[in-house]
Amino acid sequence: MNTKIALVQFDKCHAQECGTCPAAAACKHRMLKQETTGEPPMPDPFLCRGCGDCVRACPYQAVRIATG
Ligand code: SF4
Ligand code: SF4
Repeated sequence: MNTKIALVQFDKCHAQECGTCPAAAACKHRMLKQETTGEPPMPDPFLCRGCGDCVRACPYQAVRIATG
């Protein structure tokens, strides 16, 4: 069972600066999706593997892995 999921901390996310979200681009599983350029990405809590690639790719430390 998957207990680790990525969470975007919206107060830390500077999507306007990023434009295209590098964290979403880093997700090989395409579980972190940015619908609109310049807006924060949204993780899919059911399919996220908790691998942390998105965490490492975010320049603002706006993504963290939560264990549930
Ligand atoms: S890389 Fe980080 S700060 Fe930039 S849009 Fe994505 S989540 Fe937000
Ligand atoms: S933790 Fe891994 S699977 Fe989950 S959104 Fe981030 S890169 Fe994708």
